[in-house]
Amino acid sequence: MKISTCVASMGIVAVVVYFMMIGDCGHKEQFKRDASHKSISMTALTGKPNLVPIAIIGSGPAGLSAAMYAGRARHHTVIFDGPLKGGLLTNTTWVDNWPALPHYMGPEIIDKLRGQVESTGVMFLPKTVSSVDFSVWPYTLTTEDGIAFHVLAVVIATGATPRKLGVLGEEKYMGYGVSSCAKCDGPFFKDKEVVVIGGGDSAVEQAIELAPWAKKVTVLIRKNRMRAAQSMQDRLKNYDHVSLRYHVDIQEICGDGEEVTGVKIYNNKTESVEFLPVSGVFLAIGHDPNSALFANSLELEFGGYIRTMNKSQETSVPGVFAAGEVEDNHYRQASVASGNGVKAALDAIEFLSSIGYDLKMADQLKTQLVRKEDFIEAEEADVPLLTDYAEFKEFMKEHPDMLVVVDFFSEDCSSCMTMLPKYAETAYEFKDKAHFFKVDVGAHLELAQEFFVYKVPCILVFKNGNLVSRFASAMSKQELGDFVQKSLEDSIA
Ligand code: NDP
Repeated sequence: MKISTCVASMGIVAVVVYFMMIGDCGHKEQFKRDASHKSISMTALTGKPNLVPIAIIGSGPAGLSAAMYAGRARHHTVIFDGPLKGGLLTNTTWVDNWPALPHYMGPEIIDKLRGQVESTGVMFLPKTVSSVDFSVWPYTLTTEDGIAFHVLAVVIATGATPRKLGVLGEEKYMGYGVSSCAKCDGPFFKDKEVVVIGGGDSAVEQAIELAPWAKKVTVLIRKNRMRAAQSMQDRLKNYDHVSLRYHVDIQEICGDGEEVTGVKIYNNKTESVEFLPVSGVFLAIGHDPNSALFANSLELEFGGYIRTMNKSQETSVPGVFAAGEVEDNHYRQASVASGNGVKAALDAIEFLSSIGYDLKMADQLKTQLVRKEDFIEAEEADVPLLTDYAEFKEFMKEHPDMLVVVDFFSEDCSSCMTMLPKYAETAYEFKDKAHFFKVDVGAHLELAQEFFVYKVPCILVFKNGNLVSRFASAMSKQELGDFVQKSLEDSIA
């Protein structure tokens, strides 16, 4: 039976009032309620492939909690993992304020939650949404590999990204001494002096992560007090070589052209300027919401947070909900993100019901609903682990014309682990044009040092013994492919 006749026979000509009016003044002021109310009907679903009743973008605490409720309501739900599977909590260590688990590791909380969600039948897709169209219902989400999904309701749970200082030297030395992840990059600073910038819980956490490695850790705080919870601050007392300095603004991150050699700091109380010699600079100055993807479709608040309204997780577009750090600029706690994820799922379920979508209709639509088996993983190459520098030099000597790509990863770095399968797929795609290695820096730190790698993930590309290109940050599958392709072209030019 065609959906149009099915809808008619069920007497459901569901109407949802919705509105959207795109303004022309950038992402601050785009949408206003439209009094002329357009209607949408279930017939709009006729013939649409890849239908998703509830789509969840992002897999941190907000996305997973939303998925758990959507799954338990027996709605066909798809969660798009995004570039950092599990979200920022996978980059933290001990969490003391997750309900009922008084002292638990961040990544373990995520693992438990993911397991709980999987048991409800929710479909996880290891894909990143790269564009959205909320102007026509069903809405369209397109992933970075170009696949379009037609969605009836959406929960945005894309989280936030560590903020940058915006001072001189920061971009230049990113990956050469500047980092936002002590858990990933701490081992590169063994017996060295480092600074952590910031006064929040993340700064404390980064200092504690660095303590076993660095000779000296100085936390630079711009005010006369820390913002971190007292219980977090108390943890620092266990480390004699971790100290705090207040009233410090960073003016510049300095280096010798290759790596960080220190920071130029300004004391905003004494008004004096000083050069502090250090090898590592760890940024812990808060986060910015990952909302750029929605800037032209949803109403945003100051700071780029998605506006939610009516004491719910509703955004300015009906059927589109947001939860977690992408919309919460005040509480920013994993447990609050989780609670708001639950609210967003309940809102999405209510929205589906309001438009006449129910489990009977799901059954009618089942041939159009997205299926996991349609997204069989791309083929992956078996990328060899490099364990010895001499072995690498020998390989280069034997293959002078071959492009050689090396991925440095650490098992403690969640963005590295998310990237590894994409790296293997890229290796398969370029198997006739380049040779790929990977280095586990947790097991072979000395190799990272030989290659002057101070941050993971980091990709180096060589030809004929020379470094062709380098990229020290996480990349999507598309970016990896483009990067290898460009390196190939550069190496020929
Ligand atoms: P916060 O926003 O809490 O803190 C950011 C810190 O950076 C503040 O001290 C701020 O200073 C400082 N800062 C901001 N901009 C600059 C700048 N340009 N120069 C120098 N300093 C700057 O962010 P966090 O990432 O620390 O924490 C985010 C949320 O995550 C919080 O809610 C926190 O509780 C939570 N969290 C929990 C953890 C856990 O439980 N294990 C671990 C990590 C985070 P100022 O105070 O002057 O504004």
